[in-house]
Amino acid sequence: TDLSRIRNFSIVAHIDHGKSTLADRLIQLTGTVAERDMKEQLLDAMDIERERGITIKANTVRIEYPAQDGHTYILNLIDTPGHVDFAYEVSRSMQAVEGSLLVVDATQGVEAQTLANVYQAIDADHEIVPVLNKIDLPAAEPDRVKEQIEDVIGIEAHDAIEISAKTGLGIPDVLEAIVARLPAPTGDRDAPLKAMLVDSYYDPYLGVVVLIRVIDGVIKKGDRVRMMKTGGTYQIDRLGVFRPKMQDIAELGPGEMGFLTASIKQVRDTRVGDTITHEKRQCDTALPGFKPSQPVVFCGLFPVDSNDFEDLRDAIEKLALNDASFSSEMETSAALGFGFRCGFLGLLHLEVIRDRLEREYDIDLITTAPSVIYHVHMKDGTMQELHNPADMPDLTHVDHIEEPRIKATILVPDDYLGDVLKLCQDRRGIQLDLTYAGSRAMVVYDLPLNEVVFDFYDRLKSVTKGYASFDYQMIGYREDFLVKMQILVNDEPVDALSIMVHRDRAEMRGRAMCEKLKELIPRHMFKIPIQAAIGGRVIARETLAALRKDVTAKCYGGDATRKKKLLEKQKAGKKKMRQFGKVEIPQSAFINALKMD
Ligand code: GDP
Ligand code: MG
Repeated sequence: TDLSRIRNFSIVAHIDHGKSTLADRLIQLTGTVAERDMKEQLLDAMDIERERGITIKANTVRIEYPAQDGHTYILNLIDTPGHVDFAYEVSRSMQAVEGSLLVVDATQGVEAQTLANVYQAIDADHEIVPVLNKIDLPAAEPDRVKEQIEDVIGIEAHDAIEISAKTGLGIPDVLEAIVARLPAPTGDRDAPLKAMLVDSYYDPYLGVVVLIRVIDGVIKKGDRVRMMKTGGTYQIDRLGVFRPKMQDIAELGPGEMGFLTASIKQVRDTRVGDTITHEKRQCDTALPGFKPSQPVVFCGLFPVDSNDFEDLRDAIEKLALNDASFSSEMETSAALGFGFRCGFLGLLHLEVIRDRLEREYDIDLITTAPSVIYHVHMKDGTMQELHNPADMPDLTHVDHIEEPRIKATILVPDDYLGDVLKLCQDRRGIQLDLTYAGSRAMVVYDLPLNEVVFDFYDRLKSVTKGYASFDYQMIGYREDFLVKMQILVNDEPVDALSIMVHRDRAEMRGRAMCEKLKELIPRHMFKIPIQAAIGGRVIARETLAALRKDVTAKCYGGDATRKKKLLEKQKAGKKKMRQFGKVEIPQSAFINALKMD
């Protein structure tokens, strides 16, 4: 294909601003999919992702567009993950294309992820076409939003395209703008093969499917190729493009995007950013490559029923096949038995994996307190990475502890600014910046990651009635006065509830957790002390009163079917409980005890 007839682009947007709907329209209008196969959100593949409206893996689709100039163009759209947890994945896939459509909801304006994503597009040297979506809605204010794009992002927006991805209004203009305003790729067809490994995923039927972008040279089915970073060599079984269904193709040349399969066993054998070249005729310089994304949040996953351990192991292995950023190793806990310590890119990633384990593999799980990675500096000058509070070394050997910090950017309407500042302040934040754009404030805070992983996002949404948007990036490690807090239930420490906490916040957190647990643990026949302690010192205490016998007597009385139902319910409930000494703690207590209201 003539390079001047190719355009490669991504769509960047804040969540819910209409990225998927626009992608669907572009695919539909160009007849890439027969009308009868058209279903909502063609690109969001997995069910959970579809429900949550997020995409984790990059995805491409090839669209053929007959433009007004009489030529047919190949448009390759790359769909990127839409959530802050996956920001690094977004930045990598941006490197594979030359331009971006910047979609902004004309009723909402610029949000935190609009900014984060568009800056990544700018960093990747993209040409950017602003698109104002949802102009069918009466609340749309395209002129105000154009001004905002210019003020806040600093890019030209007077020629932004006004569309409704829902009704289809303006979509032809978007297609013309892609052709007219985005640059064509460059590359040399005669040079040795150089292709970028954009992403990969595991398909149960095909094995590992690799998404590629050809820079130079031509790749064909049957070719023997070499991955320059990993050194692996493979023969290409299948080469194709997504339209959006897989379609085989004889070859891919410079500027083109597509997929290959080559009997690769695991996603781990592929390195995103790696350079694919021919085994016989290699290119001399590899692409710069990327760092693999590192898990930042860790937690323990234990089966509620210890008989499910083997099933859990199998399920985790299957999920890990498709997700190189998810890590796991076996863990044993005195109270919870055998389980896994797992690492995630963020809380959403954690929730997605946990949901999949529970729903697709039908395993009830206890999720222990999420923890970030601390740097524990020992008196002998060595440093230990602490992924699990339970592994905290003896304090007499510890010199100091450092914790990861983030730079958080929050956009919020003026009315809620006070609440947002208070929330950030309460979470040990340091204000870095505060600016205004119209009636919205943009606040930038330096915050400890451990204060954000539990429930910061939920709290932010609730204090701003959903009007705030939030994005963050890691900025590094800093020393602070951190301690390990244990929870004792009926005088026994429950290590799954141990957390690292700032000394000044320990009493408050300890009290809150004891109060929460008092509500979450059902009454027993005896009274149960619930305590929070640092070292051997108790800093908070609650007592769960004993069950009064007559209460049970009353509910069991009378009609037999009701009694049977009650017993069945209890049995089902039991499955979701875990025994700690003499006390049964429900599964839900482990995460809920950590939430702060
Ligand atoms: P994404 O998160 O950016 O992929 O957003 P979606 O494409 O999933 O859209 C979010 C919501 O906005 C969905 O309920 C869409 O139906 C709706 N939506 C998208 N585009 C339009 C539009 O042009 N007009 C209206 N009224 N609703 C839209
Ligand atoms: Mg979407």
